[in-house]
Amino acid sequence: MQHITILGSTGSIGVSTLDVVARHPDRYRVHALTAQNKVEELAAQCAQFHPHVAVVGSAEAAQKLQVLLRGLGLQTQVEYGPAALCAVASAPECDCVMAAIVGGAGLAPTLAAARAGKKILLANKEALVMSGPLLMEAVAASGAILMPIDSEHNAIFQCMPAAFHQQQRTPAQHGIEKILLTASGGPFLNRALDTLDQVTCAEAIAHPKWVMGRKISVDSATMMNKGLEVIEAHWLFGVPADRIEVVIHPQSVVHSMVSYIDGSVLAQLGNPDMRTPIAHAMAYPERIASGVAPIDLIKIAQLTFEHPDLLRFPCLKLAYDALQAGGSAPAIMNAANEIAVQAFLDGRIGFRAIDQLIARVMAALPSSPVTDIDTVFEQDRRARDTAASFI
Ligand code: NAD
Ligand code: MG
Repeated sequence: MQHITILGSTGSIGVSTLDVVARHPDRYRVHALTAQNKVEELAAQCAQFHPHVAVVGSAEAAQKLQVLLRGLGLQTQVEYGPAALCAVASAPECDCVMAAIVGGAGLAPTLAAARAGKKILLANKEALVMSGPLLMEAVAASGAILMPIDSEHNAIFQCMPAAFHQQQRTPAQHGIEKILLTASGGPFLNRALDTLDQVTCAEAIAHPKWVMGRKISVDSATMMNKGLEVIEAHWLFGVPADRIEVVIHPQSVVHSMVSYIDGSVLAQLGNPDMRTPIAHAMAYPERIASGVAPIDLIKIAQLTFEHPDLLRFPCLKLAYDALQAGGSAPAIMNAANEIAVQAFLDGRIGFRAIDQLIARVMAALPSSPVTDIDTVFEQDRRARDTAASFI
């Protein structure tokens, strides 16, 4: 029996995770569930999954949740705030942590889980982008296990040789030539370039293939999501930036590929439903049912691939630049992106201002070396303040 903490249980990934948990009551128990402020949803999840602890974002939300839970006759312990998130992520009663908080807010609890040696199911890519070397070091030092949930990285994990996950050898020593990271291209792949600044929030979050939270949906529209994923792949698999190639694949059937020096290209295929990577990572090295139907190749009939256009998607280039610059550059870029995306969602800036704002913040704040996590949080805060002042 595995005891799981789900950070961000009311989000898109959180709900998909609970769907998989509910299919396997013989394998999984929920230790803790967390949400920022959706207390009604969280109370309903508590009634179904009976966690020991529920964590919310504020004292006010905690009070509301407490009332709802007592009304349901539940004894779930209610906590709030960032320290409580770190506590449930590192609690001795929990074996496995689904890191599915969106954005930089997920870094501290993910790091707490890594330091406590947990099995981490990593959806929160921003945490790895902000602090790649430090998070990977914490995982190695404690013996934690890091399983990628992002569909592309989970696909790459599945296309890597089993020995790669057990040995300390480099990808090149395993004959891996490059990673082909697939991208749908999002809602604006074919939209006239001169109309991009007029796109509405509703258009930007209407992803053609995936149903996701609002922030990652906007990231998919700008392709910053793919940029974050290039950095994520670099840290997860130790592959240099020039061996990670982004390939546009609008059908979203091939979730990514690994190319070997003997000419073999291994791909993982499936319907665009996050329950597949979630179930894979939860049960690895076993396989369990996820509720996702296998793909119907005859119905799909055609798979197409093309190069990304960096004029259309400047955020992708900014991410390669940040990875190349190293140090605090990815954390600065990530923070600027979070502020820009929120401003776009709030209707305060246009769509094209997102990439312009990130580029300005990156130019204003040069990269500096990152040796400890406090520096990361400091750089993150500076970049957020700078981005806010530019808006
Ligand atoms: P979402 O917006 O649907 O859910 C986010 C969750 O985090 C919610 O439970 C929310 O309450 C919680 N949260 C938000 N802000 C918080 C804060 N400041 N402190 C504590 N909790 C907070 O997002 P999502 O789509 O589920 O994405 C979650 C993460 O997974 C993101 O990092 C995203 O990039 C990654 N991811 C998502 C998908 C997907 O299909 N949705 C795919 C790959 C990766
Ligand atoms: Mg992805």
